[in-house]
Amino acid sequence: MVRFWFTIPLWQRVIGALVLGTLTGLFWGPDAESIKWIGDFFIKSVKMLVVPLIFFSLVSGVAAIGDLRKLGAVGGRAMLLFVVTGQIAVWLGLALGSFFKPGQGIDASAIELGITPEPNRTTAVDMILSMVPESPVKVMADAQVLPLIVFAMLMGIGILMAGKEGEPAAKVFDSGSVVMQKVTMIVMELTPFGVFALMAWVAGTLGQDALIALAKLVVLNYVGCLLIIFVLYSAMIHFLAKLPVHDFFRGIIDAMAVSYSTASSNATLPVTMRCTERNLGVSNSVASFVVSLGATINMNGTAMYLGLATLFGAQVFGVHLSWGDYFLISILSTLGAVGAAGIPGAGLIMMALVFGAVGVPLETIAFVAGVDRIMDMMRTVTNVSGDAAVATTVAVMTNEIDREEMISADDI
Ligand code: ASP
Repeated sequence: MVRFWFTIPLWQRVIGALVLGTLTGLFWGPDAESIKWIGDFFIKSVKMLVVPLIFFSLVSGVAAIGDLRKLGAVGGRAMLLFVVTGQIAVWLGLALGSFFKPGQGIDASAIELGITPEPNRTTAVDMILSMVPESPVKVMADAQVLPLIVFAMLMGIGILMAGKEGEPAAKVFDSGSVVMQKVTMIVMELTPFGVFALMAWVAGTLGQDALIALAKLVVLNYVGCLLIIFVLYSAMIHFLAKLPVHDFFRGIIDAMAVSYSTASSNATLPVTMRCTERNLGVSNSVASFVVSLGATINMNGTAMYLGLATLFGAQVFGVHLSWGDYFLISILSTLGAVGAAGIPGAGLIMMALVFGAVGVPLETIAFVAGVDRIMDMMRTVTNVSGDAAVATTVAVMTNEIDREEMISADDI
């Protein structure tokens, strides 16, 4: 029995749990709330991974660049493309959310609200200050993602500056990051149970309206991701890299398939690297640097989703958002996508960062968690395709691409 369970791919178990959980909730009614704790257990377990994962994977990612000068030339261009595409993605999510209003018309009174965060209307100066970790240990204990990222980047740069003497430290972080990926795999085995319980709770306590709203959210998530992939990335490859769009997508099809089934940019990393080098002709140094950095910080699918989900939560709980809030959401969603580790469910956890700033109840997280996995799969395809698109474009800009290789890769 146990063996049979593990022969079914995880994503299929998750989808099965989603359907069964929904049906159970519809039949069981409000009493399904009694198993919500299983979902909370799952969410808590994913949260547990965030700090160590970001810390180990970012430090080892920066250290992997190997050379401070390269950080400037290739890194500058890659960062610019990461930021610009990230902003376009969030505003697309906000546009989809405000136009189609997926969270409107639900009676959310059955959801017991905990402490809803007071919107902390921070100024730009506050935000800059909050990015500096006063104490790295405190930042980790409080799971504050942004100052943690700053600290991890500095540690990576420090390792590079230390040269030979920094190598043992780099090895520790490399190994730590592999270990954390294994821990992630263990936690991911909880997904079907968490999804089952959360869907039963949502369907049982909130009824069909809530299910329809969640279905709308899922559809909008897919539409947003497909627009980013086929419009934004196609434009980047066509206009900036001046390469045939069709060949680009043909070259990364393996990475797209693996990312959809694993919902993890990190797990797909080796395939993305291989596709960009072998099928697209990007040089090894640009591919390994841009793609590995991108797997941690370039997440346009996640950025789009954070914008969309914040509006969803605001609509469900009737929170009014001003234009100022929209700008805050756009900045925090981009930063949240940077902070999200390349693992399944990371985008879900990052919601707390954005929600807290604009006063959207954190209960939205449990509400959408049951359908998160199917959205996550598409977000990850978007994130991974974006890494390959940026790596290819930067390679063209810095003359690090072998076009012959790209065109002649007919054995893809
Ligand atoms: N699972 C996504 C990734 O690995 C992150 C997310 O949850 O949005 O790219």
